[in-house]
Amino acid sequence: MTDTNLLPEVLSAAVRRITGGAADQPRPPQADLSDRIQDAMLSATSVAAQGPTQVLGAAPTGLGKSLAYLAPALLAAAERGERTVISTESLSLQAQVVDRDLPLIAHAVEDVTGSLPTGAVLKGWGNYVCAATVSATIEEISDVEATTPEQLASLLPGLQRLTEFATGRKGIIGKATVRAFLQGRTPTVRESVRATKDAHVLIGTEKVPALPLFRLLEQTCATNDPAHHDIHHLDVTADLWVHASITASGCPGTANCNFGEVCAPAASRKVAADADVLVTNHKLLAIQATTGAPVVLGSKRFGMIDHLVVDEAHELPRIVRDTGAISVSGQRIRSLSKRINRIVVDSSAGDDGFAVAESVDHVLAQYIAARGGRGSAVVNLTENDMPLQDVTELIIEWAKSARGNLPDPATISRHAEAAKVRHLASDLTELIGNVGSANKTEIGTARWLDAENLAVKMSPIDVGPMLRANLFKATAHEQWIDDGLIEDHRLDLDGSYPVSVTMVSATLPDGFARQAGMSVAPVVYDSPFEVAFAASALFVPAINADDLAALTGLGGRFVTGQHAAWAAPKIAELVLANDGSALVLATTKTAGIAYVEHLRAALRTAGANHITVHSQWDGVPVRQALDDWRTDHHSVLVGTRSLMTGVDAPGQTCSLVIIDRIPRTAGNPVDDARVASIMASSGMSKWTADELVYVSDAKLLLQQAAGRLIRRATDTGMIAVLDPRLLGGTAIAQKANIRQTYLSALTHMQHKLRFMDEATTWLIEHRTGFEAA
Ligand code: SF4
Repeated sequence: MTDTNLLPEVLSAAVRRITGGAADQPRPPQADLSDRIQDAMLSATSVAAQGPTQVLGAAPTGLGKSLAYLAPALLAAAERGERTVISTESLSLQAQVVDRDLPLIAHAVEDVTGSLPTGAVLKGWGNYVCAATVSATIEEISDVEATTPEQLASLLPGLQRLTEFATGRKGIIGKATVRAFLQGRTPTVRESVRATKDAHVLIGTEKVPALPLFRLLEQTCATNDPAHHDIHHLDVTADLWVHASITASGCPGTANCNFGEVCAPAASRKVAADADVLVTNHKLLAIQATTGAPVVLGSKRFGMIDHLVVDEAHELPRIVRDTGAISVSGQRIRSLSKRINRIVVDSSAGDDGFAVAESVDHVLAQYIAARGGRGSAVVNLTENDMPLQDVTELIIEWAKSARGNLPDPATISRHAEAAKVRHLASDLTELIGNVGSANKTEIGTARWLDAENLAVKMSPIDVGPMLRANLFKATAHEQWIDDGLIEDHRLDLDGSYPVSVTMVSATLPDGFARQAGMSVAPVVYDSPFEVAFAASALFVPAINADDLAALTGLGGRFVTGQHAAWAAPKIAELVLANDGSALVLATTKTAGIAYVEHLRAALRTAGANHITVHSQWDGVPVRQALDDWRTDHHSVLVGTRSLMTGVDAPGQTCSLVIIDRIPRTAGNPVDDARVASIMASSGMSKWTADELVYVSDAKLLLQQAAGRLIRRATDTGMIAVLDPRLLGGTAIAQKANIRQTYLSALTHMQHKLRFMDEATTWLIEHRTGFEAA
């Protein structure tokens, strides 16, 4: 390590590389954030530095936060051999960091230090192609056995011919036809006269679309690049992915697999173990946070990690809550029993399971009735409630015996069947653990009865302590101490060592530091796009008496279910005025589908056939829908909550973002428990705590949805929030302080519009200006 601070030089070299030499200085906020991260890293590892070891940054889109954290992380590797885990929320951002940003910045570090640090991606086992599953799928559809990587690769030409053949076919393509193509016995490709893509093959009794399946198998049979054989690099839907992948619990391990030598998930782990920077996702961190297992940090397999950087940090608490949630019900036992019956035909375990499920249903129904819970969807449970007490032993005994009756997977020749047995055994083990947890209230968790589905449910609510205990420090293995990787001053009494923690996000909800277990206040940076926002418009429609009647029911209350019918024609009017180029974000799937149907009909009627409407519900992978939308700038994309974050379409394609309603989550036990927990720990009023949970979450989502409009400094356009409750002066208006909270997420837009005619005029003028430019 040098005594000189090389970070400014690295940032400068990185900016030169990113801009192709057009600039050589980072933005001041970017440099500030980067500095803070470097300081925190040094404070965690060096005895000389005594500052905070954590950074919490609200870094708006355009600030360039990936450079801000990658530069100190990669420099720490080059100078001091320190390793960092970077976590992102989505697989697409994970790929962007590893494939695009990291190599550029690593070379900038090399320009300055002479050392080239390395990075690798780390995803869950089931995100990679499993060659054994691909082989089993091919065998299933053709009876052609391929038990070695070489045999699998040799089928590639046959699969290519088969893919061409399947284009335009209808009906089921039989095993004999598939076999003939794979074995090269049908070399000519017959021209198809039908332009359909409707051909299917049978996998067991399941009818699977042939063309995408053949394409997937064709891509995955090229076994020479296992590191890139993952779900993100292949164009595939989740339905098809099961025919090319395997869960960790279904895998027999590389030592017991014919394809162990070319195993893509295992290869990815080897690469990660050697990398300086591991780019993972929140799901893996959440598993570590909820179970305490060293999935990433403290893992002997991946080696010692010094620093943790969490990008899109606002999502981490929710993902930890979802990952730690459990549900025990008769239905869950019934579904396990069905799986047992499919695998073990001559055992009574499956049928016994149905009887256990009946008992669970009965006991829970009685418990709900005794608690007066009939008619209400949720019955909250307190410390003393043990709704499963009478059936706990029954469930555990049954699950253990069913697990014991499963055949030994090593004796099953068919790969898919053996994987199912392993997976089932793991699910039974998980049930046994969950029954114990469902019977007791643990600190920081919520427990309730779902009366509708007769289930006991539990979810962590206060995830801060879990993050602090399981992610912000890691086990210090003796080998690492012996190798001098951890000096004494870093060791805690419990045999762990703390890592530096950086959490950054474009938007952070109020009270986030507490939620995420961070001990530092957030540093909030201004958006670099203020000028673009100032040239943009916010439209929230004012309403008249007719609108009010359309939106309200008995007692003049706002009726959510009536909103979509009221909003749909307004969406069409705005889209037509903008000549397409819109992103429509619906709060629910039902409303989204209604908007798609109405919009397509309205565009047809208006003769606007050049505007294509893509949606999340068209049966194509979302990534493809996004690509289609981006490449045709007149087109419109309609989706729901998942598109409120992470969708990126700079330029004219996304010059109008329509959000139908305030995306406030309906009351639910987990968020209610979060409210109660905040009240108990802080003495806040119910209203304030409610605002911190429900209103703050909705404001964050609104802010993110609106953020889809401006992705670069030259983007301008309109955000339309078709929710008149945001305006005062009507019977359905939200309380003034709540309205203010929501509107504070949208204050950047300078032009505030209230009437449809001024909104459409603004859009037409804006579009004309855009086209002229
Ligand atoms: S070791 Fe597991 S994941 Fe790897 S190819 Fe074999 S079955 Fe698939």
